[in-house]
Amino acid sequence: MTSHNNPIPDAAPVAPLCILCGHDASDHILYPGILQCPFCGFVFADTKLSAADLQKLYQRNYFFGNEYLNYLEDKPALQKNFSTRIRALLKYSSGGNLFEVGCAYGFFLELANRYWKTEGCDISAPACDEARHQGNNVTCGDFLHLPLKEDHYDVVAMWDTIEHLARPDLYVQKASTLLKRGGILCATTGDIGSAMAKMRKHRWRLIHPPTHLYYFDRKSIERLMQKNGLEIIRFEHCGYSRSVQQILYSLLVLNRETDLRKKIYALLKPLFGFSVYVNLYDIMFVVARKK
Ligand SMILES: [Zn+2]
Repeated sequence: MTSHNNPIPDAAPVAPLCILCGHDASDHILYPGILQCPFCGFVFADTKLSAADLQKLYQRNYFFGNEYLNYLEDKPALQKNFSTRIRALLKYSSGGNLFEVGCAYGFFLELANRYWKTEGCDISAPACDEARHQGNNVTCGDFLHLPLKEDHYDVVAMWDTIEHLARPDLYVQKASTLLKRGGILCATTGDIGSAMAKMRKHRWRLIHPPTHLYYFDRKSIERLMQKNGLEIIRFEHCGYSRSVQQILYSLLVLNRETDLRKKIYALLKPLFGFSVYVNLYDIMFVVARKK
């Protein structure tokens, strides 16, 4: 079945139905604004955003100030992470065609170009402009609406993307149709089944609707992959290089911006121009092979 045989809904289902098993989760509140399916345990935000609303979240401010301090300044730390992912992917794919869903400024594509013929898409126009400016083959638009070749790709990548989507199930379904048999889908996303998430509960740093809508764990990600003919062949909790300036910004300024906090941050920032490696064992790195 191809994705364009289906009408493409531009928002989550009207009643808060579980996208994995279809059960109504309306009355099953896990944390404020967060529901848990009473049947399969899948966790998701109680929100009904349209595609247009989602797109508004990813204008320039998302990458500069709202969620990321300055995405472009953070490039060295982000590319360290991508190099690690690429080394892992090379164990399962030695080349061919790669598509990245949600490629932002193209930092991953730029590195992946050495090994694969790459393409990507993103819904943020300024991010796509910059990615293209750097020589990447990038389309601005929603992955679900793009006319892409089926059975054509060896790798589809979704880095920190599925938790943001209105319908991650449809994205994985489409990704699967694009993959050749034996091709791989790779993804990173938070793990709500991790010790950190269980300990922090609603205060877990990755719980922030409406930018994060879906909260997977090993069981639910496996279920989503299986439903789409994909078998998980690698599962691990991955660490991240993070710019210390970015960490400082999150701690001091993000979501509690005052002039004083901004001043303190501006004073401290020059002292922290380096990155550190952090692994809180609450981010999953998953590689799934198309059967
Ligand atoms: Zn369910």
